[in-house]
Amino acid sequence: MSEGNVYRYEDELTSSRQAPEYRPGMPLNERMKLVHKLNYSKEEVIRHTANKAVAEMVSHMDKAGIANTFDRFLQQHPQCGFGLTGACCAFCSYGPCRVNEKHPYSICGKDVDLIVAGNALRRLASGMAAHGAHAREVFIALKAAGEGTAPIPIRSPEKALAVAKVLGFDTEGKSVEQLCVEIADRFIDDLQRSLPKRHDTIFSLAQKERSSLWEKLGVIPISPYHECFEVNNLTSHGTDSDFESHMQAFMRSVVAYAMTTVVSTSLATDIVYGLPQRSKLNVNLGSIQKEGCINMGINGHAPMVAFAICDIVGTPKIMEKVKAAGAEDIKLYGMCCTGGEFVERDLGIPLVAMASSAEMAVATGAFEAIVVDQQDVLPGMMPVARRFHTKVITTSPSGRKEGAIVLELDYYLKNLDKIYELAEQILDIAIDNYRNRDAQKVHIPDIRAKVELGFSVEEVARLFDGSMPEKKIHGLASLLKDGKLRGIVNFGSCGNIRGAVFERNQVIIARQLIKNDVLVTAHGCSGMGLLFAGLAHPDASKLCGSGLQEIVENLDIPPVLHVGACTDSTRASQIMAYTANAAGQANPAMPFAMVAADPAAEKTMGARFAFVMNGIETYSCVQDNTLASDRFIDFVSNRIRGMVGAALNWNPDPYRTAEDILRMLDAKRSALGWPVRDYLIGTREEIEDQIPDTVEIGKSICKNN
Ligand code: SF4
Repeated sequence: MSEGNVYRYEDELTSSRQAPEYRPGMPLNERMKLVHKLNYSKEEVIRHTANKAVAEMVSHMDKAGIANTFDRFLQQHPQCGFGLTGACCAFCSYGPCRVNEKHPYSICGKDVDLIVAGNALRRLASGMAAHGAHAREVFIALKAAGEGTAPIPIRSPEKALAVAKVLGFDTEGKSVEQLCVEIADRFIDDLQRSLPKRHDTIFSLAQKERSSLWEKLGVIPISPYHECFEVNNLTSHGTDSDFESHMQAFMRSVVAYAMTTVVSTSLATDIVYGLPQRSKLNVNLGSIQKEGCINMGINGHAPMVAFAICDIVGTPKIMEKVKAAGAEDIKLYGMCCTGGEFVERDLGIPLVAMASSAEMAVATGAFEAIVVDQQDVLPGMMPVARRFHTKVITTSPSGRKEGAIVLELDYYLKNLDKIYELAEQILDIAIDNYRNRDAQKVHIPDIRAKVELGFSVEEVARLFDGSMPEKKIHGLASLLKDGKLRGIVNFGSCGNIRGAVFERNQVIIARQLIKNDVLVTAHGCSGMGLLFAGLAHPDASKLCGSGLQEIVENLDIPPVLHVGACTDSTRASQIMAYTANAAGQANPAMPFAMVAADPAAEKTMGARFAFVMNGIETYSCVQDNTLASDRFIDFVSNRIRGMVGAALNWNPDPYRTAEDILRMLDAKRSALGWPVRDYLIGTREEIEDQIPDTVEIGKSICKNN
């Protein structure tokens, strides 16, 4: 896939670590050294992160004596080398067992390959459970909206009809509400089944070529609930001890994760909460209003309470209470993937932080309340909130926080019909807390980025001559064929504190790619880094190669198309699949890639391999605790390519990663007989030191418009 190890440019920061390079057969202590060396100090984060607002807040928190993720990370040093490389198992209480060359077997007799595979499997299952819980809430909302058992509107009846048709339902004479109930029942059945049955979500929604391949490989799952159950069963004490069988379960679980906790969730969310809408907005911490405004952060993934708050926040009844509290306005701010759901739907809600920078948003001291539900809401937020007047309110029984106010959806869903009352109670707490704000403690970095976002598949199809019923995007296929576009690359997943400088790798890679005429799609927390770096605005066309520049300027669109939250990887994979369909090719032949630069949360295990199972090469800069096993590394970075046409690629250097991607895209283009032009690698001065003028620094901010 690449011209050996000869690169045109290397990252000074990564090479300064002098980490040994991975080679099969290397001793375990060298592997540990490799991972240990690839860490960065807080000072390096402040100096090199692309997110200057976060850099300012880390310095500010330092001065104020408020600990954050970066401090806690350093306190963990040196991290356990066995844990870092995956050579430790603590599944049963014989353990923990740590294996190395001298003691190659655990107490129960596992070797390092089985231990690494077991750890990876359990992490994957945990991520699948998290997305599955998100999926469950969306399906409950869809069903309740259809049955009328909760005051939840159906905002996109046209999407309900389209999804019903794709699922093969007879739509004749049925109301939208009936269709919503049928869709929800189908998705819930596929999510929770324990006995084998035709997995409709997969066979209706995946490309035929893929579902046939997965069937041939024997990796069609029974359901995500069952695969989670089975992963925990087969990795339990003295059960499965066959590496190949572990990896079969791994692939089966990835398919369950991809299709039945992610794709169906994205479609159901669009039906209930509406399709993305194009809009212009400012993002990052500088979008927070400093004075006269009650500020509420909404953080997490589950949509029901979050959207109910959003629905009523500007109503006359609430505004009356706001004025009575002495404020002029009340505003919501998105964090993490709920923020992603908000910004894509033109609700005028700025996005201010991704998962691990949410603490920095709290430390601005400008929030009356932070409303959180589940997943990626770091416990470290609580001590930060306690330093200010900020109240943390939890709304999900799955995501309570010690010391937070609990105003949640009932575990047995008994208060689903009272969701707006719950939303009003939450708003009341924020409004009442405004009087406690200490203006002296407020510190908001004057840094924000201009973005234009809200790109649905439907909108991309409209822009690029798509025919949706046929699932083809002809315009993108032609641009790829004639060489104006070199490829399409999606950025997703979360961000890591370990092994990377916060929000740096993905920005370097994306800037190199757009410089070389690669159209980028972005979603989830990693995609947010590209928004904060000013790449998702039409004015970022100046950073593009001539081919991409002409395309985005003609259409007045950004070179980075933001497609939403974590589960909206669905949109990116649909855009790729429909372009491949129009080109008459299968995914693995196409110049496509996925970048999850700094994977961290358990969900990112599935997120990356979902693209691999869909035949799309996937790239990361952070290694995810599997380096102890050559057999595992060989499986995920080589052998799997022979099965599904793509694999996982790992390179800690973001400049080299960009070059790896460009070479791979060119190799695919060459195999298709499509024109190939030489690529250019921008230097640090160009890629990192030149901040685009879409990032506004030091401007006085009154209103977010
Ligand atoms: S399952 Fe085996 S390897 Fe894991 S802790 Fe128990 S004895 Fe050790």
